[in-house]
Parts: sequence; structure tokens; C-alpha cells
Amino acid sequence: MNGDGLLLRDVECYPSPHQVDVRVRAGAVSEIGPHLPPAEDEFVVRGDGGALLPGLADHHLHLAAMAAADGSVDLSGVPRAGLRTAFAGAVVGEDGWLRAVGYDEVVHGDLDRSALDAHAGRVPVRVQHRSGALWVVNSAGLERLGDHEGAERAADGRATGRLWRADAWLRGAIGGRRPSLRSVGARLSAYGVTHVADATPDAGAAELVADAVRRHELPQHVMVMAAACPPTSVPRLSVGPVKLVVADHSLPALDDLGAWIRGAHADGRPVAVHCVTRTALALTLAALDLVGGLEGDRVEHCAVADLAAAREVAARGVRVVTQPTLVALRGDDYWTRVEPEDRPDLWRYDGLLRAGVRVAPSSDAPYGNPDPWACLRAARERTTRSGRVLGPAERVAGEMVLRGMFSPLHDPGGPPRLIAPGAPADLVLLDRPLAEALLQPDAEHVRATFIGGRVEYGDLG
Ligand SMILES: [Zn+2]
Repeated sequence: MNGDGLLLRDVECYPSPHQVDVRVRAGAVSEIGPHLPPAEDEFVVRGDGGALLPGLADHHLHLAAMAAADGSVDLSGVPRAGLRTAFAGAVVGEDGWLRAVGYDEVVHGDLDRSALDAHAGRVPVRVQHRSGALWVVNSAGLERLGDHEGAERAADGRATGRLWRADAWLRGAIGGRRPSLRSVGARLSAYGVTHVADATPDAGAAELVADAVRRHELPQHVMVMAAACPPTSVPRLSVGPVKLVVADHSLPALDDLGAWIRGAHADGRPVAVHCVTRTALALTLAALDLVGGLEGDRVEHCAVADLAAAREVAARGVRVVTQPTLVALRGDDYWTRVEPEDRPDLWRYDGLLRAGVRVAPSSDAPYGNPDPWACLRAARERTTRSGRVLGPAERVAGEMVLRGMFSPLHDPGGPPRLIAPGAPADLVLLDRPLAEALLQPDAEHVRATFIGGRVEYGDLG
């Protein structure tokens, strides 16, 4: 059935609510209409009135980190008193390291090399902060890694074991086998995800992703966002905006940020600027004013924005890529950690849309939930783990969030990719009509996922 012909019978073809047949040939939609006669070599799928949607896009995630997280101890939900047990029960990886993710200073206290030495002594250990921005390494790990000039040091010059934004350096220093992205690709296919934007800034991660696309470990269309990107002769791989990080713990100077943006624009690439605080957003808008904007410029997260700032974002044509599942997973943390005056402005979604901003949803996996159906629920409900509704006025209905998932990788928040003759057959078939699926959004409703006309998920036999 991965050959040339496919006929999808009686499907509700987005955006129409009427049932039609859809023919797929050579990786593209070739014909849409009622009661199409099947060709001889065609595989016929009975849609039974289920929705046929454009494949879903995740506009911001981290593929290599998703694969690595699968082989790691997850500390989120582990109390401080349980750290030693969590490490004791962990399996050391093929690279000789014990790897943990989900470190949270509020729950686990300040971790540095000596704290880690106390919990897990002999084996090299590296622990990632839940934000992805920080690694903490124990003494055995530091010994193996050697010197890193960017390593944080105490007043006496001794390395603390805390390494900020050192992913690329760590990957090189640890070496080892290239992780496979096959299970990540399969998982995304099962959710109906056909397009992903990898927002990892370092070139090593982008190369790994390019390699995985080339080997078809990842069947999805992938847009990479590292400043130094591999050549794009690989089918399904494209180069997107340059990811820039306005770090919350050390803001760049306005002129520096302006120069980074100017550099990206000079290469014909827009920028995707990581902004989590009110100040980071203001600085980014000021830098864009300084050097001028480029169509496609975007802000990642936009975690704190008042309505005046939202209008400023809209006026500049800057897009926002937001993460509804982070509200569901971490909303309580954000609420307690931000300044009280920031609370009404946390993780706006509908407010941005009302201000005229083009907004697209995403997961930020592995830090958020990669399941787009969980994203639909989170955007609609905005309920945190404790049951608080974070910003009830910011809730967005499923249809609107889906539209964002249908928008092209290079036009997040723009008009949806449509199912039409000539369009690539990147499609999701649901087991029921869309209106019904949206009543209780769930990945269970995905019956099949097609990428370039190939069945990447689903049992249609
Ligand atoms: Zn991210």
C-alpha cells in the first residue's frame, strides 16, 4: 500500500464537512470528488466519514533532546528526599554516563557538583535543568570532561559543575554513538504530526536531525533553526529562521542582539527569538526596531506579555510560537515564581490573537508534551495540575489551535495548508468527524498518518 495509488473513501475532507473520496498518486493528492471510481492498482481505504486533515505541524521542539530524554532518569515529580534513590535505581548509558532530566531548583534545592557527589558518587552524572538551559555535572563527570572555559566557577576558581547552555560542547566532549531518532519519528507519526520545526540553536543537533531525515529515521518534514545549518539538498529538510536565545539569566546588550539579528537577515533568514520575560520581549522588539524586521521573524514562548506589548508585536508583523502544554504542566510554577504583576500576562494566546498577532502552537518537547491533542486540550482549558485556570480569557478553541497546527513550517500562524489536487499528501485520517473529535481531543482518534502519500502510521489492512 506504499505504492503509487491510494483511494480514501467517504472522508470528511478539511475544511468541508461533506463526505468525498480523495485519490493520492505519486505522493500528492490527485483528485477529490464524490464516488471516484477506483483504479485497478489502487489501495482503497474506507474512511467511514472520518475527518481527513492536513498533517499536523509542531512549530517548536527539540528532536535530539526528545531521543535523549527517552534514555534518562526523569526527576520531575521526584521529591528532594527521593533523589538518592532515583539515581541508585538508574541505568548507566552506553556512553558510561548516568543522565537525568527535569531538575528543578525549587523542588530539589541548588544542585552543584558536591550536591551531586553526595547523591551519586562514582559514576559520571549529568543532570539537565527542566528549562534545558543548564547542565549540572558531578566530580566524576567533570574529571572525564576536562576543562570548559564557559564553566561556572566559584570564587576560589573551582568549577561548580554547573554548565549553562553548553549542549554543543557537552555532546562533543562526551562523544559516543549518534542517538537514533526512529522512535521519536514513530511517536510523532502516531500523533498525526507530519511537520516539525527543530528549534535547537546548535549546529551539532541540526546535523544529527539532517542525518536522521536522510536515513528516513524521521519521516516528517523538518525545518532546522541552528545559525550554522547543514546543506539543504536532503528531501523534506529545510532551513528556517535563526534561533536566538535572549537568556533570562544574562540579557545581551541591545547592540549585540541587533547585530545577531542583522547577521541572520543578511543571510536571508528571519530570526526566532527565545523570550520568556517581559524585559526579554521589550529588548527583542527594540533590537528589531534598531535593525529592521524581516518577514518570518518570530518570538518563541512570549511567556509574559501585556496587551500593549501584544499590539507592538502585531504592529511589527512578528509571529509568536506558544506552548499551551507548558501552561498545563508548569502553570503552578509560573504562577508562584513570577512577580505578581506578571500573572495576568502569563502565556497569553487568545489575547495575542485578539491583538492581531499570528500565533502558532507548539510543544517545546521534551520540555512540554509532544502530543498535539494534549495541546488542544491545554489551550482550551488552561488548567494547571492544581486545578487553577491560568488566564481564563486566554483560552482558545480547538478549531483555532488546529489551524495553527495546519499552518506551514515557514509561515507559522499563517493560512492552513489545504488538501487540494497537486498538494503533497501529508494527511491525517481520524476515526470520526472533526467536530466529534474536537469534543474530546485525543491522539486515539488518529487512525492513519500519511507523509508524501506513504502510510507512516496506522493499520489500514
Ligand atoms: Zn525550545
